[in-house]
Amino acid sequence: MRKNIVAGNWKMNNDLAQTEALITDLKRQTQTSNAEVMIAPAFTNLWQAFQTLKDDTIEVISQNMHFAENGAYTGEVSASMLKSIGITTVILGHSERRAYYNETDASLAKKVDAALANDMRIIFCFGEELADRKAGKQEAVVENQIKNALFHLDASAFKHIVLAYEPVWAIGTGETASPEQAQDMHAFIRKTLENKYGHTIADDMTILYGGSVKPGNAKEIFGKPDVDGGLIGGAALKAEDFYAIVDAF
Ligand code: PEP
Repeated sequence: MRKNIVAGNWKMNNDLAQTEALITDLKRQTQTSNAEVMIAPAFTNLWQAFQTLKDDTIEVISQNMHFAENGAYTGEVSASMLKSIGITTVILGHSERRAYYNETDASLAKKVDAALANDMRIIFCFGEELADRKAGKQEAVVENQIKNALFHLDASAFKHIVLAYEPVWAIGTGETASPEQAQDMHAFIRKTLENKYGHTIADDMTILYGGSVKPGNAKEIFGKPDVDGGLIGGAALKAEDFYAIVDAF
């Protein structure tokens, strides 16, 4: 079943005290919403955030994980470690991870497998760079990213996956894809899934848009028929802005 989701990616922002303060602000403003709401604090604050929100409707999720179960991977965190503190959803493939930490479609395919083997839900991110869009290659780039990291999976895996289309040129730049650009790409993504896995899986897939979503543009973007919510960076760091975006549903 397709869901509406608004997920806040806090990136490398907020120490423990700031995390607690922002969660307090979020809890103060909690309201009934037609969307599932998630926040992704830094690894060091996941336990505290989870404990504070475990009886709340806001889900605490992870920004990343490693593909191995354990071993000599200094500085990394595994799916089972996340599960052991109650985290059951992970963002994979964010463009900052791809750009700064050399994450590739092949390494992401391994992370996807590890997350699924641990019964985790995945928010899988992908999107073209500005040069790709200028060259008219955005659909080919996105199709490859999806195929290379996900198309080895059985159809049954897709109920654990949420897709997040995030054009790299729109992330943290203040530049947003127009609602029409988002809709066109989301419809293309759904078609790509349909061609491989059939209509039901494609129609049920939740596809988020990410890239400078703000209170002022969320309603128009989320109003498009193939846009099921958003992955929010900068605007997730202020409770009022984040809730104004959640309220767009
Ligand atoms: C993101 O990092 O996923 C993102 C969409 O960031 P921003 O909203 O700041 O563009």
